[in-house]
Parts: sequence; structure tokens; C-alpha cells
Amino acid sequence: MSAAAGLFHSARFATSVAESVQLNAAELAMLPEVAFVGRSNAGKSSAINTLTQQRQLAFASKTPGRTQLLNFFALSRRLATGRSEAVAYLVDLPGYGFAKVDDATRIRWDQLVGGYLQSRRMLVGVVLVMDARRPLLGADEELIGWLAGREDVARLRLHLLLTKADQLGQAEKSRVLRQAEARADTLPMPTSVQIFSSLKKLGVAELQDAVASMLPSA
Ligand code: GDP
Repeated sequence: MSAAAGLFHSARFATSVAESVQLNAAELAMLPEVAFVGRSNAGKSSAINTLTQQRQLAFASKTPGRTQLLNFFALSRRLATGRSEAVAYLVDLPGYGFAKVDDATRIRWDQLVGGYLQSRRMLVGVVLVMDARRPLLGADEELIGWLAGREDVARLRLHLLLTKADQLGQAEKSRVLRQAEARADTLPMPTSVQIFSSLKKLGVAELQDAVASMLPSA
């Protein structure tokens, strides 16, 4: 288990935001934020639940009415006094994959998620969750493009999480990892890559370490 496991286990729902213009008015402390993004069904909610060792945490983001929101979860550390203090937020961004959605929904998603990823000042890192059998599709690349356009891109960290690895054989896992690492090498932001499985609990400590290392106080 990672030394950072306790930090993630402390995750608690903090607030939701429906419009990127509301971000500055939201009841959020000025803390570093790590965002989780991915196509719908990529395995993002399962990855957040596995990371935080909480079976239902991110599924709260899937309840009707919360699917098109930015959902913030506070991560806390216990102080010597016994009280705990929030030190960062995990931000669960709405999934993309638009086979079935109308133009208005798509435009709304672009504004909300694009607005957040392009200009949120507290954003220190992004975990891009992808099905290891179908990594780096067009929509994933669009999202990487938003991050790559930021002025502070060299300070931002990107982690490519190739999940559902239990569905791949050993050779296929190595191939997909190499392919994603080759893409990571060409990106303007420091980018790490890993194989993961929520189902088999594969790569959990590696994910905890990767996210913890994005936090300045870690
Ligand atoms: P989200 O839409 O990206 O939040 O995806 P979910 O976490 O809800 O997962 C979508 C589907 O993939 C569900 O049926 C999950 O049970 C399944 N799934 C998620 N993670 C894994 C995994 O590591 N391995 C396998 N085989 N299936 C997974």
C-alpha cells in the first residue's frame, strides 16, 4: 500500500459546480486540484472509488442531476491535534462520448469541462482515464490539446491511466503501455503512464503515488 493511501481514503464530497463561471463563487478553499477525466464508461468512477478505497464515492457523480457537474471531493490530513485539515481536491469531471447526446449537451460539456481544463488556476494535475483496449481516441486528444494550450503547461502534470488492464494479455499490456509512453514523450507537460485495473486492484499504489506527487504539499 502507498504511504499516500490515507490521504485518499479521507476523500469526502465537498460541492458540485454546474457552470464554469460559477467556479470562483463556489464554496471552495484555495487548494490544489487534481481532475479526473475520461470518456463515459472508460472506468473513471471505478478508478476514483478504488483510489479512495470507497465503494460509492464517485458513483454519487452518476446519480441523475449530477452527471453534468464538476464534483469536488476534499482530501484531508489529520493534524497532531487530532483535527483534520483539507489539503487538496479531487475533481470528478463529467464523462464524454457523444454518440447519443444532442448538440446543446455537447456544447454545454465543452464549455464546462473545456473552461475548467483551460483556465482553472488551482489545477495542478489531470488523470486521463482510458480503456486500455482503446487509448488516446479523438476526444482524449482534444482534451490533451486543451491542457497543452495553457500558459502554465510545463507546471501541470498529466497521468494517463490505462484501465481495465485485466482484459488484456501480457504482450498486449506491454504494447499499449509503450504506445502511450511514446505519446507522452511528445507532450509539453510532464506526463506519466500506467496500467491499471479496478477489478483486479492492479496499480492502486502506483496511482496513489502518482496523484500524491502532483500535490505541492505531498
Ligand atoms: P465511467 O463511466 O468512466 O465512470 O466508468 P465506470 O467506472 O462506471 O465503469 C464502466 C463499466 O466498466 C462498468 O461496467 C464497470 O464495471 C466496468 N469497469 C470499470 N473498471 C473496470 C476494470 O478495471 N476492469 C473491468 N473488466 N471492467 C471495469
